[in-house]
Amino acid sequence: MQITTEFLDKHNVSGPRYTSYPPANFFNTNFTSSDYLEQLKASNQQQPENISIYIHIPFCPQRCHFCGCNTEIGQKRSFIERYVDAIKKEINQVCEHLDLKNRKLTQVHWGGGTPNAIAMRYIFDIMNLIKEKFIVDANAEIAIECSPAYLEFEHIDQLAEMGFNRMSLGIQDFREDVLQVVNRQKPKHDVKQIVDYLRGKGFNGINLDFIYGLPLQTADSLKETIEKAIEIKPDRIVTFSYAHVPWVKEEQLKLEKIGLPSPKDKMDMLINNIQQLQQAGYTSIGIDHFAHPDDQLAIAYKNKKLHRNFQGYCTLETTGQVYGFGASSISQLWGAYAQNVKSAAKYIEEIENTGFAIERGFTLNVNQQIVRAVINSIMCNGVLYFDEIADQFKMSADDIKSIVNYDVSKLVDFEKDGIISISEKGIELSELGHKIARNIAMAFDPDLKQGESIYSKTV
Ligand code: SF4
Repeated sequence: MQITTEFLDKHNVSGPRYTSYPPANFFNTNFTSSDYLEQLKASNQQQPENISIYIHIPFCPQRCHFCGCNTEIGQKRSFIERYVDAIKKEINQVCEHLDLKNRKLTQVHWGGGTPNAIAMRYIFDIMNLIKEKFIVDANAEIAIECSPAYLEFEHIDQLAEMGFNRMSLGIQDFREDVLQVVNRQKPKHDVKQIVDYLRGKGFNGINLDFIYGLPLQTADSLKETIEKAIEIKPDRIVTFSYAHVPWVKEEQLKLEKIGLPSPKDKMDMLINNIQQLQQAGYTSIGIDHFAHPDDQLAIAYKNKKLHRNFQGYCTLETTGQVYGFGASSISQLWGAYAQNVKSAAKYIEEIENTGFAIERGFTLNVNQQIVRAVINSIMCNGVLYFDEIADQFKMSADDIKSIVNYDVSKLVDFEKDGIISISEKGIELSELGHKIARNIAMAFDPDLKQGESIYSKTV
């Protein structure tokens, strides 16, 4: 079945992105540093046993008008130095409560902001501490998000030397006029040369990020951008839908003034993206991720071993419980989510004073852990097998059904449209169903009604 505008239109409703369940808007400020401390200790006995680290660098040389991230502009060197020291202090503090003898570090992810906008010596500094503290698995995935506007070839050499082996480049669009109106610098060097250079340095899972739905973009212009991306042959391509939420990010109003593509244009862009990338041989994962068939993500997807955290899709093998460091970073543990304060200044102050900077979080009870497992399975692997979830939680399949309020009547329309097939075992999403996995996951989300209008559109 072909993906069409009518199909996407029909299913384009407001809903959570499900980068976490429950979504981050459910986190609350009753969750404090002492709750985090308790969860840190508990995490040593929980699953997954592996450790993932997320480092947030909330600095950018200038602000893109579409930005939905937590970042700050124009901070001085002395401030950045204090921030780096605070991250090191936070790592030391957290390590005091982790079992570092028996648990391995399998994933490190640097995000932002623009991690490569700070001097490489700071990245060295933090990476050295990480290597000193943790047992780094030989196959650990060490990734960094970079802006090609500030990336030099010698930076790639230095990152490779530090052990980085994966990079995500935020391209957004190859059209310079689009970049200009959204207040973003163009890449400093030819992107193909960067990708080839990265590969020569042993990087894999090289990813190019794009955004569709920005001012000046048309279905045809984006088609050219994606063609160019395909010619570069990265391992992964992500085409994010621009999430217009000016009630959260006021800066986005500037884009409204320039004029945003119509919903119909945006649909056409999405359909083109999917068709172009599938024709080029990329495996389509979810609605907006595409991976070369030899890439680990595509292999994990095929084997139904895909996972998802705040940093994006990942494989179940490399992903551990996530310990976040830095302002606004979120720790994703088995039993809880914990988020640090968003302001870098407040983060530094709290870390300097107490060693922790938790602002809010959420403790999951067993039922919520089950709903999370159900939603993850639908979102990542396009299946829900009640027996598998039941085994994981040592319960019966009927218990699981009752906890997620399983109600076939909520799903019959999806079945009629060929989006899912329903059996005794559970549900399986068709290829088309994978494109609207968020909508299907919503049918299993007991909390959804409480705030659905605040979410962006699912397509
Ligand atoms: S580079 Fe990324 S984090 Fe920085 S302002 Fe632009 S979109 Fe936001």
